Amino acid sequence: ITYTEGTGWHDAKVEPYAPISLDPAAMVLHYGQSIFEGLKAYRQSDGSIASFRVEANAARFNRSADRIAMPHLPEELFARSITELLDVDHEWVPEAGGESSLYLRPYMFATEPALGVRPSAEYKYLLIASPAGAYFPRGVKPVSVWLSREYVRAAPGGTGAAKFAGNYAASLVAQAHASEQGCDQVVWLDAIERKYVEEMGGMNLYFVYGSGPDARLVTPALSGSLLPGITRDSLLTLAMDSGLSVEEQRISTEEWREKAASGEITEVFACGTAAVITPVGSVKDRDGEFSIAGGEPGPITMALRDTLTGIQRGTFADTHGWMTTLRA
Ligand code: PMP
Repeated sequence: ITYTEGTGWHDAKVEPYAPISLDPAAMVLHYGQSIFEGLKAYRQSDGSIASFRVEANAARFNRSADRIAMPHLPEELFARSITELLDVDHEWVPEAGGESSLYLRPYMFATEPALGVRPSAEYKYLLIASPAGAYFPRGVKPVSVWLSREYVRAAPGGTGAAKFAGNYAASLVAQAHASEQGCDQVVWLDAIERKYVEEMGGMNLYFVYGSGPDARLVTPALSGSLLPGITRDSLLTLAMDSGLSVEEQRISTEEWREKAASGEITEVFACGTAAVITPVGSVKDRDGEFSIAGGEPGPITMALRDTLTGIQRGTFADTHGWMTTLRA
């Protein structure tokens, strides 16, 4: 779909996948106005296709647009682009039963040819899709993380709460640094003190304190510099549904280290659309390395994972109305 200042959104069309052309002066190539979303369509056991929290993704898309001085895409157009793509491409949605899905990537970028630094007057919104296999084909495997003090993902007043393309470009060297340290993923700390945990790579984090009926969940509070994940938000609700107490607060790296050692922190997991829920097994930084509960996935992590994937696959009741049927 094309946007032109004064006219608004026009010329929506579904076309065969092919390269697109851009003017060499297209503003996105110079000043980086580009945002995206990520969500999934799941085949249900009756053969229908449904996706998870389309409205929440559409709303976050427009919040990202606000931060980068882009126009809003009406939520109705966001939703319709998904339904219309699936009308054509539904055979790409994998069979029900496994962990596979169709990953949907809506995105918007500045296309006006101009060399002055100002918001573009023209944009393109595109939606592409790709089948996604099981994130863990050999079962859920805990990840190792590196606490990055060298690099930050986002600073107060910056673009961290937006799904802005530049945030991901800026994260690449930090991810490479984590890999050099032998870790799977980078954990971002706050920009000012480099002390408080924000998020992990492209996922939000949850900490489980205690166990059994006394277990309580803690997730870093939305500081303005971490991405308000839709999986994070859904888990806040599901944890409360299951009677767990959940708090959004600041967690320092010292607290993580000390309480993992004393056994007070019993489980840690990351959550996001791609992997849904991933246990964190070990943590490393310049001061050394420690593991969480022997590095094995914990019972609360796995129970929340089962509930969430059950809702997404239609095997658990969708009591919050999070699923949208895209094709009967
Ligand atoms: N943080 C970042 C930086 C991300 O890119 C993502 C993926 N969108 C998340 C967290 C998790 O968000 P969601 O649950 O909406 O996928």
